[in-house]
Amino acid sequence: MEVAIFSTKPYDKQFLQEANQKFGHKLHFFEDSLTDETVVFTQHIDAICVFVNDRIGADLIDKLAKNDVKLIALRCAGFNNVDIEAAAQHGIKVVRVPAYSPYAVAEHTLAMILTLNRKTHRAFNRVRESNFSLNGLIGFDVHGKTVGVIGTGRIGAIFCNVMQGLGCKVVAYDPYPSEELKNQGIEYKSLPELYKVADIITLKCPLVPETYHIINDEAIKQMKKGVMLINTSRGGLIDTEALVKGLKSGIIGYLGIDVYEQEEDIFYKDLSDVIIKDDLIMRLITFPNVLITSHQAFFTDTAMRNISDTTLGNITQFENNESLSNEVKPVKKN
Ligand code: NAD
Repeated sequence: MEVAIFSTKPYDKQFLQEANQKFGHKLHFFEDSLTDETVVFTQHIDAICVFVNDRIGADLIDKLAKNDVKLIALRCAGFNNVDIEAAAQHGIKVVRVPAYSPYAVAEHTLAMILTLNRKTHRAFNRVRESNFSLNGLIGFDVHGKTVGVIGTGRIGAIFCNVMQGLGCKVVAYDPYPSEELKNQGIEYKSLPELYKVADIITLKCPLVPETYHIINDEAIKQMKKGVMLINTSRGGLIDTEALVKGLKSGIIGYLGIDVYEQEEDIFYKDLSDVIIKDDLIMRLITFPNVLITSHQAFFTDTAMRNISDTTLGNITQFENNESLSNEVKPVKKN
């Protein structure tokens, strides 16, 4: 199939080309994201392949339909950036990669926790300047702390196991609790109860209307003073202004974010020579107890291989008129 791949970085091209040796699609790579300007490249194209920060709203879907695009292949798990309803109205199918390495995201969460806690990023810089002082580097034992996990699906479940392995008590909130995790000693609680007891809180749920700004002023007020908050899921789960207030008041003692609500204009770009106009992210960067990574939790070689294989496999299923194992369908309304 003719596939236009948007938001291509060198590593995307490398892994997709390697995987395509067994699929044989005709891949056209574009560095730009899919926008009103770049949609012109989808003429005579059957399928488009996009990533987390390509925003595909109803207007863009109209244009894709006019160009006779039949398939949107997301090379990511989340699909909040695509108007699924509008795609269905035009008969455009949407497929995604539901799981490629939940371990990668769970492990990155642990990396963020340990970096924020033990300040290894600061120690690294200090030692390079021949500063061997320990002042300001004190951390806490993670062993024995209570960790609150919001969302215990694929990534959340693995993360629960990782933290239990470190000797933490793990509590969780999920509208669909897992019996398996309960049997492993994970205690499900309501959100207010979780906020009250957790020393470390992490978001492992999808961004859907019910979870939009789930962390807001009200939620932060209920948390323990000095709590560590880690978000590796989607930026829209957090009201960033409330976060800044929480950091200033000291309720949030540590913050690790791999995702940011306005990330599409910032993440995956080298802006070192540019005046960044987003004052919120610039304010967050100034806090010494904030660690920001650029939506990289997924980024391991295993995950990249799995993403490429599943994405091209999804396209092949569509080409062969097979049932689509990873189709995203609109939610049926009553
Ligand atoms: P999953 O679908 O396996 O699990 C999501 C869990 O969230 C489910 O158990 C679901 O019941 C639960 N949930 C739904 N609504 C909820 C609510 N209102 N409150 C609490 N929990 C709720 O998904 P996953 O593979 O574990 O991924 C989780 C999220 O991680 C994805 O939605 C995606 O946004 C994000 N993600 C980020 C990266 C990254 O690189 N940073 C990579 C992959 C996935």
